[in-house]
Amino acid sequence: MDWKDFPRWGRKVADWAAEYHGGLRDRPVRAQTRPGDILRALPESAPEKPESVEAVFEDFETIVMPGMTHWQHPRFFAYFNSNAAPASVLAEYLASTVAAQCMLWQTSPAATEMETRMMDWLRQGLGLPEGFAGVIQDSASSATLAAVLVMRERALGWEGNKAGLAGQKPVRIYASAEVHTSIDRAIWVAGVGEANLVRIPITGKRRAMDPDKLREAIAADRAAGYLPAGIVACTGATGCGASDDIAAVCDVAEAEGLYVHVDAAWAGTAMICPEFRDLWAGAERADSIVFNPHKWLGAQFDCSAHFVRSPEDLTRTLAIQPEYLKTHGADGVVNYSEWSIPLGRRFRALKLWFLMRVYGMEGLRDMVRNHVRWTEALCEKLRAHPDFQVVTDPVLSLFTFRYLPKGAEDADALNLKLITAINDAGVIYLTQTRVDGDFVIRFTAGQFLSEERDFETAYDAICEAAARL
Ligand SMILES: *Cc1c(COP(=O)(O)O)cnc(C)c1O
Repeated sequence: MDWKDFPRWGRKVADWAAEYHGGLRDRPVRAQTRPGDILRALPESAPEKPESVEAVFEDFETIVMPGMTHWQHPRFFAYFNSNAAPASVLAEYLASTVAAQCMLWQTSPAATEMETRMMDWLRQGLGLPEGFAGVIQDSASSATLAAVLVMRERALGWEGNKAGLAGQKPVRIYASAEVHTSIDRAIWVAGVGEANLVRIPITGKRRAMDPDKLREAIAADRAAGYLPAGIVACTGATGCGASDDIAAVCDVAEAEGLYVHVDAAWAGTAMICPEFRDLWAGAERADSIVFNPHKWLGAQFDCSAHFVRSPEDLTRTLAIQPEYLKTHGADGVVNYSEWSIPLGRRFRALKLWFLMRVYGMEGLRDMVRNHVRWTEALCEKLRAHPDFQVVTDPVLSLFTFRYLPKGAEDADALNLKLITAINDAGVIYLTQTRVDGDFVIRFTAGQFLSEERDFETAYDAICEAAARL
C-alpha cells in the first residue's frame, strides 16, 4: 500500500467510523470474549509476503472488533470514560498523517505555539489565574511523576539528579489514602520510596485529608530528621470522588514551604463550569495541577493538561541539553520536551484546537452539566428504591451504591454477583470499588453520546439484574 491507495481506504475507514458510532447503542458495552480467544485467532509469526489491505481490514472486523470493549458506548458507565469527539478524531488523523516529532520548537514551531495557546485557552476555561503555564503530558501519571520529581529536587537543593539520593535526608511527601495509584508509582519511580509517602487520615463527607493531621505529620517528620518536600492533593479521586480542601492544604504548604500538586485528572474537566469550582476552591494557589482532557472533555487518549506556576522549577528538574538538542539561534523559544519525561512528543494540541472550536466552550459545558444532572437523577431513583443504598453521594457524575434487600446476609458477595450479572447482560457497563472496606458498585458518566434515556436504561438494567438474582 502506498499513498496513492490511501484515499480509497481513508474513505472506507471514515464510513466505517461513522457507521460504528451510529450503531453503538445496539452492541453490548463490554467485550464478550474469553481470555485467549483473540490470541488464538492471530498467526504466531508475521507474514513474509505482503497481504492485501482488504484481507487485513476483514480480519480487523472479524477478529479484533468482537474483542473490543466499547468505550464510546453511550451506556459505558465504568471506570472514568475516555471520550473521542469526532472533531478530535479528525485532528488525530491529520496529526498522524503529518507525523511530526514535536520535541523542540524548531522541530515544528506550529505544534509548540499551538500548545502554548491551547493550554492558555484551557487555563481560562478552568478559571485559573494568569501566571500558570501549561504543557501537554502523555498522561496524568507522567505529570504527577514530573511534579514529584520537582518536589524532590526543590527539597534537596537541586542536588538529587546530580548526587543521587543515597546519603540525603529522606524526602517526605504527603497525601491521603484516597489518591490514585499513579501517586504511589511516582513515589516509587522518583526514588522517594513508599515508606516516605505519608498517608494523612481523611475527614468529613468529602473524604478530604485532615489539615490538622497534615500539619502534625510534617512537624513530627521535621523533628525526626526527615525532609518534607510536597503534598499531593486530589480533586475527584478515582474510587468515589474524594476531594481535598485545596485551600486548607495550601495554607499548610505555604507555612511550611512545601510544593503542592493537585491531581484532578477526571474532575478537572468539570471546572469549565463555574458552578462546580467549589470542589477545588484554592486550586489557584497550587504549584502544579493536572487534568485529563482525554477523559471527560472529548480529546481522545492521550492528552493530559499540566499547569505549573513555575516552569523554571520543572525545566530545572527535567531539562537536559546535549549538543544534538541545542537550538542555536532560536533562544527564548519554548522546547516542551524539557518540561516532560519522554523526549519525543506527538502533536497533541491540534485535537484540543479542533475540539474547542468545533463544540465551543459552551457546548462542552452543556455536555458536562447534562451528565451531572442525569447522574443525580439516577442516584435519587436508586435512593428511593427500598432495596438500594447510596453509599457515597454524587461528586459531579460519580456515585457509589449497594444492593441491600431486606435480610441480605453477605452484602459484599451479593453485590459482586449483581455487578457480574449487570455486566454479563451487556446493556450497561459498571465497575466496583471499596468504601470503608465495603464492596460497592460505582456509577460514573461522561460519554459524548450519552442521552437522558441511557440513564433511564441504566436504572432498568440495574433493577432487572437485581430481580434476576
Ligand atoms: C485516570 C486518573 C489518573 C491516571 O491518569 P492517566 O492519564 O491514565 O495516567 C490519575 N488520577 C486520577 C484521579 C485519575 O482519575
